[in-house]
Amino acid sequence: MKAPPKLVTGALELLHQRQGPLTRELLREPGGFGIGQVPAGKKPDATTTAVCGFCSTGCGLEVHLQAGEAVGLSPARDYSVNFGMACPKGWEALAPLRAKDRATTPLLRNERGVLVPATWDRALEAFTRRMKAIIEKHGPESVAWLGTGQIPTEELALLGAFAKFGMGVVHGDGNTRQCMATAVVAYKQSFGFDAPPYTYEDFEQSDVIVLVGSNLCIAHPILWEHVCRNPHSPEIVVIDPRRTETAMNATLHLPLAPKSDLTLFYAVTHHLISRGWIDRDFIDAHTTGFEDLARQVSSFSLAHAAAATGLPTEQIARLAQLIGTGKRVSIWWTMGVNQSHEAVRTAQALINLALITGNIGRPGTGANSITGQCNAMGSRLFSNTTNLLGGRDFTNPEHRATVAKTLGIPVERIPDRPSLAYDQIMEGILRGKIKGLWIVATNTAHSWINQADAVEVLKRLDFLVVQDMYTTTETASLAHLVLPAAGWGEKEGTFINSERRIGLLKKVSRAPGEALADFSIIKLLAEAWGVGDLFRRFSDPEATFQLLKELSRGQPCDITGIEDYAMLDDKRGIQWPLREGERVVAQSQRRLFADGTFFHADGRAKLIADDPRPVPETTSAEFPFVLLTGRGSSSQWHTQTRTAKSAVLRRLYPSEPYVEVSPDDAERLAIEPGTWVIVESRRGMLRARAHPTHVVRPGQVFVPMHYAKANQLTFPAFDPHSRQPSYKHCAVRLRPVEAADQAT
Ligand code: SF4
Repeated sequence: MKAPPKLVTGALELLHQRQGPLTRELLREPGGFGIGQVPAGKKPDATTTAVCGFCSTGCGLEVHLQAGEAVGLSPARDYSVNFGMACPKGWEALAPLRAKDRATTPLLRNERGVLVPATWDRALEAFTRRMKAIIEKHGPESVAWLGTGQIPTEELALLGAFAKFGMGVVHGDGNTRQCMATAVVAYKQSFGFDAPPYTYEDFEQSDVIVLVGSNLCIAHPILWEHVCRNPHSPEIVVIDPRRTETAMNATLHLPLAPKSDLTLFYAVTHHLISRGWIDRDFIDAHTTGFEDLARQVSSFSLAHAAAATGLPTEQIARLAQLIGTGKRVSIWWTMGVNQSHEAVRTAQALINLALITGNIGRPGTGANSITGQCNAMGSRLFSNTTNLLGGRDFTNPEHRATVAKTLGIPVERIPDRPSLAYDQIMEGILRGKIKGLWIVATNTAHSWINQADAVEVLKRLDFLVVQDMYTTTETASLAHLVLPAAGWGEKEGTFINSERRIGLLKKVSRAPGEALADFSIIKLLAEAWGVGDLFRRFSDPEATFQLLKELSRGQPCDITGIEDYAMLDDKRGIQWPLREGERVVAQSQRRLFADGTFFHADGRAKLIADDPRPVPETTSAEFPFVLLTGRGSSSQWHTQTRTAKSAVLRRLYPSEPYVEVSPDDAERLAIEPGTWVIVESRRGMLRARAHPTHVVRPGQVFVPMHYAKANQLTFPAFDPHSRQPSYKHCAVRLRPVEAADQAT
């Protein structure tokens, strides 16, 4: 008999339990602008709409204006993504704009090694002269760029177009490599295109929801609210080594051993096949590779999986039964899958499960990767890094010709190969092959895996340009040139959220000082470089959106049916695809593959499997704990570049780094709650407050990724297909800080 549903606790309620309520007093903190609070004397005279600029949920916000300037905000009630709710980051979206350390003028490092203010003319001249000098001396592969999933698609497209077609740079990547590269490769290989198939309504229509490596309550709290709206009393299965907030609200939690997930899913696949819990008609009509898959998983018995995962065979069988007998099963994953040494095959094991059970293309189903950053999907399709603009292929001459014609540029300017990946760019710097780097809106010196090495690598550059909102990031502090950028709310453009919904971003605040929109900075750089004419068609963000439409024509992500920004606003966001001539109703919810046709040439999805591989760094007597990393709270975002600027958000999470350790291990090591401990790997160490908790199991520790030194510990392993870093597993040891040092 089905267990009673346990999912009525909303994410914000969970937050309150964990972090204390969002009281009115808290929201009146100096600098706090949340809950529609408007500072005294700032009575709004108008309201406009915009999508949030933190995570990929893509919530709609109402921004309250006085004389055209934002003075407060509240969540949009008529937006299908968030129906009147926002997480703390969204409520506080205006606070980071008012931070004291905003970059307000270009900064250039002088001969004494000090960053000093410079004019824009001087900054543009320095960028052009020094980058050109490097390229002339060492060739076009000696300069690279690293972009982001945090800026609008129009800016990403212009950045990638200028760097590759204007500067002649060959290699550029983005921080989406750190979060979504695995999903991209998995979908491309399995479906024939990077195409998350779902719509958020699927959370509400499933009878079985399987969440893998996803702490939805914390990482995507508004999506958890969709789960809470599900009227079908769904089974909620959480597969995660930690007993997270989401696991606590599951009907079944499988606390598997870290990185044993691929073995688990192959055993489930084998069990489904041997019990006949598969959709043979769907498999025969819409997939290829079933016989190979069946052969590949045939040795993965429940007992084998139980030994690898530490889970009872009954629990594994129960998972298989839920997937095999559920009518509408949706499988969702995030970074617990994507950030692994065998991430692509693990994601594809989940895709296989959906395909062989026919759980795709119908309401409440899907193999669904939840994106991280607000515009990771825009970066995936339009950043011109791994893919040619519009999800096209650099190696395809027809695709190059189409892009050249659409943009009005000579086809010879388009490279015939994709860029190096992020880790390969870092390796190129280390080897002395890459000497100039332009980093836009990401904080490599904090977020890159094995951080100490990453910082040393960045220090080797002859010329490091950082384009950012703030002068104080770890990466900006290493720069030779800082270009001051406008932030979310200070410019316009579009973001694409996890369910492929394109939302509109509006300018509701003036950027401080001489800071400019990234779009304007890149246009100025193109002029300074002497190639401004090549990018005349990118005249402003909305004209660029019209170019993006044309670049998407005929692709699975075709958006030629979206007329303009006004239509995006009017329809409250539109999911791709929407082809020319197609109509869409406001707030529509559309999923892919309803007709069982996939994007491979034969219209079929591929079932792909491989042998599991050992973890790159195993525990030992010297380093006996597995380190897990992840999001700490809904109030923190990535390297805290923006969230740490909000006094309200800072009150909602521990200011000091902390490490979760099991009570058994804490007792064995004589570690008292709240005392300082050293977490140490072979690469570095971190001082953190001990937090004994049953959330983690013996032999494991957890450190939130947001604290500056978390990545001193991580081991630089990468998935071989996606080249995404494996942040979720390395070996560490733990020891108390000497009593005499506890106070310091
Ligand atoms: S950060 Fe994400 S969940 Fe929070 S308000 Fe913004 S889009 Fe919504």
